[in-house]
Amino acid sequence: MQLLSDRILNMATSATLAMAAKARELRTEGKDIIGLSLGEPDFNTPDFIKEAAIQAIHDNYNSYSPVDGYVDLKEAIITKFKRDNKLTYKPSQIVVSTGAKQSLANIAAVMTNMGDEVILPCPYWVSYADLIKLNDGIPVEVKTTIATDFKMTPEQLEAAITPKTKMIWFSSPCNPSGSVYSKEELRALADVLLKYPNIYVVSDEIYEHINFVGSHASIAQFEDMYDRTITVNGVSKAFAMTGWRIGYIGAPEKIARACNKMQGQITSGANCIAQRAVITALNADPSTVKYMIDEFKVRRDLVLDLLSTIEGFKTNVPEGAFYVFPNISYYYGKTLRGKTINNASDFSMYLLEEALVATVDGESFGNPDCIRISYAASQEQIIEAIKRIKEAVS
Ligand code: PMP
Ligand code: GLU
Repeated sequence: MQLLSDRILNMATSATLAMAAKARELRTEGKDIIGLSLGEPDFNTPDFIKEAAIQAIHDNYNSYSPVDGYVDLKEAIITKFKRDNKLTYKPSQIVVSTGAKQSLANIAAVMTNMGDEVILPCPYWVSYADLIKLNDGIPVEVKTTIATDFKMTPEQLEAAITPKTKMIWFSSPCNPSGSVYSKEELRALADVLLKYPNIYVVSDEIYEHINFVGSHASIAQFEDMYDRTITVNGVSKAFAMTGWRIGYIGAPEKIARACNKMQGQITSGANCIAQRAVITALNADPSTVKYMIDEFKVRRDLVLDLLSTIEGFKTNVPEGAFYVFPNISYYYGKTLRGKTINNASDFSMYLLEEALVATVDGESFGNPDCIRISYAASQEQIIEAIKRIKEAVS
């Protein structure tokens, strides 16, 4: 009998985590790798949040929390949704999970039946397609290009809808393109959905605060979308808390209850100390983390400026998150230092081997003409990395 299930054998490895592991491995072999592959802030978690965690340990928070999160954490999330997104939720609509990744995994599990289609505007975050496939759903990719700032148009959305469409999953600010949907753009997509009342939207807003245009719009803000939107968020990015593993959703009650039931069988709830610390993080004014956003913007400008000097790198101007997603298809069919580049994976591997710079190929994000460069790294690292890339491709 086969040892491993078809389910796991058919699942792709997370490309972001695989590249990070490869970079780590090469570093232990003594190679001077600059890692621009992982979407992970290079800042420390702010001290006031760390203090809250230490206090929670002293206060003997060591038991299981409610499966869907501490009541006062849910209250902090409700206040945050109201303050930042003008969204009103009841405690029964909130579920705290082990990272936004688990929030998304829950949604995929509780919402998808065999053959249900989920529309993914490309490029999309790497794990979406596999979470959907894991639950017998079918990802339906909607291709976009730099010409529309990598955003899906209402016409494209409508053309992708079939009687089997169950959901649309997207992130804004987008990982990996950095694109930010304006309120008007979201309204135009919502107008299409008005004709299809059974389609749900998963709005991944984990980069909400890492936004250089200053205004973040949530699609659930539209009254006609509220009852059919699951808003996903978390603390990994804005508060530099990736390893603390806390994410959450605001959702229609039935869906929240189902996610609660799901994680009751899988994790029993998120880590109690991290949950206590997140209460402090979310209750703080978002301006307390503005220093990180300001620095990301400086780096965004730096990366764009440096990349513009390299032949064959075409970029949009990302308005949020901390990634650029250059189209590098110019190099396809070309041979560099004896190595032929046929696709984004070849190109990303070439940069790793020849420039010692880790990036992620765009195929895993549904766009095979691009690579993703994370600028969650110091300015010195960015300057050195792009210098090396430039040398390797000239
Ligand atoms: N959504 C997007 C778009 C992301 O980039 C990430 C990155 N980790 C996640 C969700 C998951 O975040 P986490 O599990 O760390 O909360
Ligand atoms: N979201 C980050 C990224 O895209 C972290 C890696 C992951 O969670 O897959 O790089």
